[in-house]
Amino acid sequence: MDLLTTLVDKGLRREPPTRAEALAVLGTSDDELLDVVAAAGKVRRRWFGRRVKLNYLVNLKSGLCPEDCTYCSQRLGSEAGILKYTWLKPEEAAETARAGVAGGAKRVCLVASGRGPTDRDVERVAETIAAVKSGNEGVEVCACFGLLSDGQAERLREAGADAYNHNLNTSEGTYGDICTTHDFSDRVETVRQAQAAGLSPCSGLIAGMGESDGDLVDVVFALRELDVDSVPVNFLIPFEGTPLGEDWNLTPQRALRILAMVRFVHPDAEVRLAGGREIHLRTLQPLALHLANSLFLGDYLTSEGQEGKADLDMIADAGFEVEGAGTATLPDHRRETVAVRRRGAGTELPPNA
Ligand code: SF4
Repeated sequence: MDLLTTLVDKGLRREPPTRAEALAVLGTSDDELLDVVAAAGKVRRRWFGRRVKLNYLVNLKSGLCPEDCTYCSQRLGSEAGILKYTWLKPEEAAETARAGVAGGAKRVCLVASGRGPTDRDVERVAETIAAVKSGNEGVEVCACFGLLSDGQAERLREAGADAYNHNLNTSEGTYGDICTTHDFSDRVETVRQAQAAGLSPCSGLIAGMGESDGDLVDVVFALRELDVDSVPVNFLIPFEGTPLGEDWNLTPQRALRILAMVRFVHPDAEVRLAGGREIHLRTLQPLALHLANSLFLGDYLTSEGQEGKADLDMIADAGFEVEGAGTATLPDHRRETVAVRRRGAGTELPPNA
């Protein structure tokens, strides 16, 4: 059986490829690209149909971070020309979130720069979560505040957060090349804490930082091992004034192969087009919708995204539909896993319930 037929069969059964098969996807030629997209697209449609979930990012605190992540415009000593500000007020955040929800976003991602929140920050954010939820009925809230300390994930869950994002970014083997102020295991631990507290775990990667195919496969399998519900795939935005400011290593074709590999390894998880999609996928962005089932709408973080209207037009033109507020994103079996985590171990439903 050829590679793509094997991968489609496995994806339809929710089985991961082998490491060698994932590497082979990254090694396919441009002549095979449309076949790769079509194959991964079958897996995407099996679990998510033609739906596209929209997410909207609200940056609560920007810049002024003491950590030294090389890819980040908010790092210690960054000379990138970004806005720097401390915590938006709950009402300001809710007002910003309203714009995204009005544009069709189902999930609002509240993001703050920094190593991790203090307990006081978590209380401040609890008010913000309440304000966002009360002003936007049915909206999901994902929190993204860095490394968590004991008890903070539980507090965020109590405050109404649905999910927690903390990206692994790159492989364990190369993590030390992109950051020296915390390590890979710190990130894994935070994803585990969020998951244990009943928050839906969202964790992804950044491609284009000079990593090898093996590194990409390693991080994508590490995310599978953590059983994350959502995998944001970022493509490096080389910000001037950061150490990776000159790194332009991706082509649109490579970005698509990376997304296809992520889809094969995470057949039934939300694969999200995140930072850098416009500058790296460029005119091939609509093809990426056959692989990812989710994207950030419009502007995100410290870079300019496409206008929300352009995204909505692209989705419609490519024959996809925006996922409505009343439709669940994840397949039933995966939602049940999230519910069991919230109820606690031993509360699984019997097989035919
Ligand atoms: S911890 Fe977060 S905000 Fe700080 S430098 Fe790293 S990625 Fe940027």
